Amino acid sequence: MKFIARHLLLCSFVALAAGCKDASPSISAPPSEPKPSLGSPQVADSLAQKAYRHTEKILSFGHRQPASPGLRKSKQYVSQQLKKHGWTTVEQSFTAQTPKGPLQYSNLIARYSPSAGHNPWARSCTGVLAAHIDSKILPNFLGADDAASAVGTLIALAEHLDKHHPQVAKEIELVFFDGEEAVGPGISFQKDGLFGSIYYSRAVQSSAAQQVAPYKKLPRFGIVLDMIGHQDLDIKIPSDTPKSLLRDYKAARTKLGFEKHFGFSSGVILDDHYPMNVIANIPTIDLIGDFNKNSWWHTSNDTLDIISKESLSMSIQMTLEILSNQL
Ligand SMILES: [Zn+2]
Repeated sequence: MKFIARHLLLCSFVALAAGCKDASPSISAPPSEPKPSLGSPQVADSLAQKAYRHTEKILSFGHRQPASPGLRKSKQYVSQQLKKHGWTTVEQSFTAQTPKGPLQYSNLIARYSPSAGHNPWARSCTGVLAAHIDSKILPNFLGADDAASAVGTLIALAEHLDKHHPQVAKEIELVFFDGEEAVGPGISFQKDGLFGSIYYSRAVQSSAAQQVAPYKKLPRFGIVLDMIGHQDLDIKIPSDTPKSLLRDYKAARTKLGFEKHFGFSSGVILDDHYPMNVIANIPTIDLIGDFNKNSWWHTSNDTLDIISKESLSMSIQMTLEILSNQL
C-alpha cells in the first residue's frame, strides 16, 4: 500500500474507467434511526486482546510475500481459526500478470455455516468485511500493521459474531485478499497491486450480472480494514468513500468520541476498496491508517512493537458501529 493521487488527476482517470460516473457509488436512502450496537467498549477491548494475539501468531510465520511459506501458513491459520467458530473458507486461486511476470495468488473467502449439511455458498450475503493478508516484497518487512493486525481483527470479529450475533454472521462474507501489495514500488490500478481485490470484484460482478450464486444479489456494502492497530492511530478514510458509509463513519466517530483518531484523507486512495467500488459496484469504505508515516510504513519497523490493543479496540468499535448501521 498505497498510492494517493491528487484528486483531480485520479478523478479524470476514474471518469474514463467508470464511464464518466462518480467513483463513489451513491445510496440515496434517507438517514435511518441508529441501530443497536453489536458490541460495547468492554467487548471491543476483549476482542482487541484476541486480535492482538492472532496478529502475533501470524507474524510468527514470517513474511507473507506472494506464494511464500509464511503466506501459506497464515492462510491455514486463518482457516483453522474460522472453522472453530462455524465459518467455512474457500480459496479463490488465480494467476496475475505482474511487472515481475505471472505470479500465483489466492484470496481466502469465508461464510458462516455452523450446521452441517447447509451450503453457505448457495445464498447471497449482505455485507463484506475484508483485509489484505499478503505483505510487501521488501527486505526484513513483516507488515504487522500492514496488514496482519487487520487479519487478526477479522478473526476476532468472526468469533464474536458466531458467539453473540449468529444472525448477523449469516449475512456477512469475510475476504482475505492476496496480492494487495504492488510487486514494484507502488500500486498502479490494473497494472500493479490490488490483484486479489480486482479478481474478487470481477467474480462478484460477473456472478451478480448473471444472477447466480454466490452473489445472486450484490452485497449492499463492504468494509475494508488496513493498518488499524498502530499505537498512534490515525485513520484517514479516502475521499472516494461512498455516501452511505461516509454518513455512518461520521456518526460513529462522533458517537464514540473518536474524532481525534478517525479523520479524512484529502484524496482518493488506491486500496482494496477501490476495485470493490468501481468493478464490483459494492459501496465500500476503507478504514485505513495514515501511510504517510515514513518512520514505519513499508519499513522494517512495522513490527508487533507498534501495535496497540487500545488502537485495535477503537477500530473494532468503529467497525461494529458501521456494520450495525449498514445491516
Ligand atoms: Zn502496504
